[in-house]
Order: sequence, then structure tokens, then C-alpha cells
Amino acid sequence: MRQVHKRTKIVATLGPASASKETLLSMIKVGVNVCRLNFSHGSQADHQKVIDTIRDINQKYKIHVGILADLQGPKIRIGMVKDGGIQLINGNQIDITTNEMIGDEQQIYITYSNFPKDVRAGEIILLDDGKLQLRVLDTNNKDKVTCEVVHGGILTSRKGVNLPNTKISIPSLTEEDLSNLEFALANDVEWIGLSFVRTGEDIIDLKRIINRSGKMARVIAKIEKPEAVDNIDEIIRATDGVMVARGDLGVEMPMEQVPVLQKMIVRKCREASKPVVIATQMLESMITTPRPTRAEVNDVANSVLDGADAVMLSGETSVGEFPVIVVDTMSKIIRNIEETAYPYYTPKKLDVNSATYMADAVCGSAVYLSEKTNACGIISMTSSGYTAFEISSHRPKATTYIFTNNKNLLNTLSLLWGVRGFYYDKQESTDRTISDVNRILKEEKMIMPGDAVINTAAMPIEKRGKTNMIRVTVVD
Ligand code: PGA
Ligand code: MN
Repeated sequence: MRQVHKRTKIVATLGPASASKETLLSMIKVGVNVCRLNFSHGSQADHQKVIDTIRDINQKYKIHVGILADLQGPKIRIGMVKDGGIQLINGNQIDITTNEMIGDEQQIYITYSNFPKDVRAGEIILLDDGKLQLRVLDTNNKDKVTCEVVHGGILTSRKGVNLPNTKISIPSLTEEDLSNLEFALANDVEWIGLSFVRTGEDIIDLKRIINRSGKMARVIAKIEKPEAVDNIDEIIRATDGVMVARGDLGVEMPMEQVPVLQKMIVRKCREASKPVVIATQMLESMITTPRPTRAEVNDVANSVLDGADAVMLSGETSVGEFPVIVVDTMSKIIRNIEETAYPYYTPKKLDVNSATYMADAVCGSAVYLSEKTNACGIISMTSSGYTAFEISSHRPKATTYIFTNNKNLLNTLSLLWGVRGFYYDKQESTDRTISDVNRILKEEKMIMPGDAVINTAAMPIEKRGKTNMIRVTVVD
């Protein structure tokens, strides 16, 4: 099976609409590179089935679809409400309690036990993605907060709560997250997403647990709180990847700021060679219609032009009616931008104080050389993945072909812009390996006689050191 080739990757959230093997396979064929399992929904048994299906597909078709396990983090919700929905009327008062109960027009339950202590009068409470709004009148500092309804409407059970003004004292990993993390690590998922990240320390704590488990999973920091935007530099330093989680970010911050924040976060991630995913409502209308709005097409296109590594689908593929058509639509938008208007290769500044300065200089030069020789491929070996992250961040016109003997790493690298991974375990001499990998790509018809290609390697190859060599070859 050949997957559709495009440089910008697609992350698809899986759910009831996309759990069957046939649907998933069709979605992968037309462009899904990474599958997201959203641990805010579904049981571990449900997720296990999907993981097994993805691993089966990878093995059968020799492809490297990655898995992103997305942890809910300190997400706050209201409890169940009576009759499935209650009516909140503008100007009315309503109490929020930390004692579990079935909510009604007078009182609702919140899953955040310190809420009465952390909240202050005057602060705003947003319910159901900001559709409903309350203002805090008073707190008893113990178990009850009295509010006024500012924007009312129907409130249904278990809706999310955003507290843009409140300093929230919930730990970054809840009990539920720790259990889901253990499950995800036991399944060797490649990426762990953490929701509602606030500081670099949140990421460091998560990485400590991953390291202790001896697993190689990498971390994606979901940027969806004002505090995360304030601490963006330390978060990018600590993490392996980032998601611009526009759903919650646009509720917690004035939504008109999100477009510029998206561009800022993408730029900083590229400078730091960390992959960045743009998420939420990208083709939202396709949950129920087979054609997107023109504004949605523009949003996907502009996110690609901003330089994102990947664009993400949520409800569109997890519960939507057209999971395959939506991926195909996204692929077509991406490919059209990449064929007509993509700003390839924008040179990056080298940080002379960085510990990786030498390897970075070699990778940057390999990309430069690929542009000058109009090469069709940059072909590299890696055991840590470092070279792939670094080369990809320059956004070269040439495809980045990465060879490694680590299958898990190949799945990880599926998220990275422009990277195509291949399994290769015969690293002997440098000359032999280079001629081998070039031959493999020629056999796959990915490079053709007469094409220029750039090879990089770490010499001597048996030592598996840092990339220190560049070679230009014309394929014969
Ligand atoms: P979610 O995260 O879908 O897990 O809420 C993405 C977002 O908030 O945009
Ligand atoms: Mn979110």
C-alpha cells in the first residue's frame, strides 16, 4: 500500500466513527500519519482495540503510523444534571458545589474540590466551550460558590468548565491521567499529549515518569491556557512537541488573539526544532456535511503556510459522518499549497552556544546543499532521531528520508514535517550503508537515475555518533 505523499502531516482523532479496520485503513491511505486517542473519552479497553488495529496495519503494510495518547490533564467538568439538561436564565443566581449531586436550576456540582478556595468574586466561569458564562458573586471558601448567570442557555451533563482568570491548584497529572499514562506506556505509544499545561515543570514531571518506566515515548505540550502562553519558552525547551489547542485556547483567551498566537508558537517551535500541531475545528462543518466551508479550507491552508508540522482532525474523524472524505479533503488542501505556494527552506539561525552546535551546523548545511543542487532527497541514518527533527525544521524542498533500525522511532517520526521513515538494520561501513539506502530508495522509485541526493551520516558508522558527514550523489 502507498500512502498519499505530502510533507505536512495529518493527525486524526479516532472514535466510534473511525474504529473499524476498513475505515482506519482507508483514512491512512488518503493521508493520516498519526492517530490520536483522546483519553477524555472511551475506556482503556476501547483504546486497546484501536491500538491493536493500528499496530496490525503497520505490520501488514510496512508503514509507520504513530499513536498519540492524549491525556485529559486538569480538565474541570460539571457533574450530571437533572433531566439531561437544565435552563440557565440571564441574571439568575446559581450555586456551584464541590459535594457531588445531580445538578438543577439552583445548584450544580463541579469536579474541582479546591474551587471555592481558589476562586475570587468577579472572576468568570465559562461552561460548554464558553457557550454559557457565569460570574462569581461570592465564595464560602469551603464547598460553595455563588454565581450570577451572564449568558444563559441549556446546560447538559458533564460539560467542560474553563476558568480563564482563576489560578488553578489541581496537579498537572490527575489520578486518572496516571492510570492512562501507565496504560499508554505499556502499549509503547510514541507520543503522549498533556492537556492544560501551565509550566515547563509540568512537562518535566511527566518526562520523569516516562523515563522511570524505561519507555521512549515523547511528549506533546498542549497550549490551551494563558499561563502556557506566558511560559511558552520554558515549555518549548522542556517538551518534544507542541499542540496549538485552539479549542480551549480560544475560550481561555480572547479568541481574536489565537491567529497571532498560532503563528508565534509555530515560529518558536521551528526555531527549537520541535514539531508543532495545529488543532481543532479545522474542518468542523464536515462532521455533518461532505464539503467544508470555504473559511475552513482557508484555515487548513493558512496553517500549512504558517509552517505547522501537522494539522489535526478531532470530531471530524472521531464522531463525524465522513471520516475518510475529511482526511482526503485535508490532504488535497495540503498538497495544493505544497505544490504552489509553500515557502520552502527558510534558513535558521545557528545557536553557537548550543551543545548540539556541530551536528546542527552539519544538518543545516545538508539542507542548504540540497537546495543548491536541487536535490530530490536528503537521506540520513539516525538512531536517536535527532537528525530527523533537525533537518525537518528547515522545511527543505527535498524529501527527508530517514533510515533507522528502531521501529518505534519510525512511528515517532511520522509526525515530523517532510520526513519519510524506512527500517534498516545493516549499518556496516559508511560507503556500504550509503549505497544500500540509496539503492533501496531507487527500488522504491522514490529517487530516479539522474536525481541529485544528499546523504548524511555519522562516521564511523559503527560508533553511532553525531551526524558529521555530507555527501552529494547523482543517482545512476
Ligand atoms: P481537546 O484539545 O480536543 O482535548 O480539548 C484540543 C483543543 O482544546 O483544541
Ligand atoms: Mn483542549
